[in-house]
Amino acid sequence: DMTGMTKQEERELAKRLVAEIGRMAETAGRKLRFMEVCGTHTVAIFRAGLRQMLPENVELVSGPGCPVCVTPDDYMDKAITYALREDTIITTFGDMLKVPGSKSSLMEAKAEGADIRIVYSPLDSIQVAKDNPDKKVIFLAVGFETTAPTAAATVLAAKQQGIENLYMLSAQKLVPPALRALLNDPEVRVDGFILPGHVSVITGTDVFSFLTEEYHMPGVVTGFEPLQILRSLYRLMQQVTKGEARIENEYGSVVHEGGSPAAQRATDLVYEPADAAWRGIGIIPMSGLRMRDSFAAYDIERLLPLDVPMGKNKPGCRCGEVLRGIVTPKECPLFGKACVPTHAVGPCMVSVEGVCAAWYKYGQGR
Ligand code: SF4
Repeated sequence: DMTGMTKQEERELAKRLVAEIGRMAETAGRKLRFMEVCGTHTVAIFRAGLRQMLPENVELVSGPGCPVCVTPDDYMDKAITYALREDTIITTFGDMLKVPGSKSSLMEAKAEGADIRIVYSPLDSIQVAKDNPDKKVIFLAVGFETTAPTAAATVLAAKQQGIENLYMLSAQKLVPPALRALLNDPEVRVDGFILPGHVSVITGTDVFSFLTEEYHMPGVVTGFEPLQILRSLYRLMQQVTKGEARIENEYGSVVHEGGSPAAQRATDLVYEPADAAWRGIGIIPMSGLRMRDSFAAYDIERLLPLDVPMGKNKPGCRCGEVLRGIVTPKECPLFGKACVPTHAVGPCMVSVEGVCAAWYKYGQGR
């Protein structure tokens, strides 16, 4: 594998790191909380059982890094409304199908006859549009900085190929403004961030320097192997116990300070920053991407505007607090009872990267 170590050596190193983290934790004199911002990290942490390996006073909480989870109900309501029209085909990633809107889901719309197709890349929508010239093909563009460049590339390709029946229902989001909103939220308590690996490949690490400069908050960008995550925790502990705050990069093989200029350029051609609504957090200034006026022809909301009321959380669902690391899923009275993956009340139980789904699948951790 990537470390070039045997399994035995990896286990030894993991043990040493955990012991060092424990030693530092003893000197900390208080409970420390680190937030993993990315849903892929959440799943990796649970799969490896890292939470159980950590000392009592070092806690890992999950953040708003599951794109499906932070997408509010009204987006799903719009998607369902478009899907139920006779003249549309929806293309989407598979995990959107079961996400509940305020009344139903895309899955239910599909059962009612809506044409909804699962794609693995937004670019797949181009062929669907070519094959169905009399339909409006709408891609559900949900995701962070990682997916925006491909969504942008799809729009650029459609324009270049003269395709006039391909649209985006866009709810692209940006990670740094969400972290700022969390740090400004008096309910949120966190001592450092495990920063997202894939997002940082695109954005670079410089976009996170406001964490240290304005909030004296350390962050470590890291990959998805258990050892990388442990090493990032070790580095966070080192900083916190010394009262330091730096952005460090534990994923230097693929993440650079400036990120990927080509990907940033593609995004920037098609999109501009705009206010966006996050489930559980509300509107965060300049935390989303809207399609530029020059690409308005590919924006389904400008072609067929819908008046859908702002999404409200499901009664009893605490997904919004779970996404801010304020409560754990097991503090939700519906967890594992009325809300299970096969019958999810909130999106945190739907997505494979959802915090509630991870707790359910891998046991409750601690
Ligand atoms: Fe919402 Fe279900 Fe999670 Fe409870 S367990 S917070 S109802 S998604």
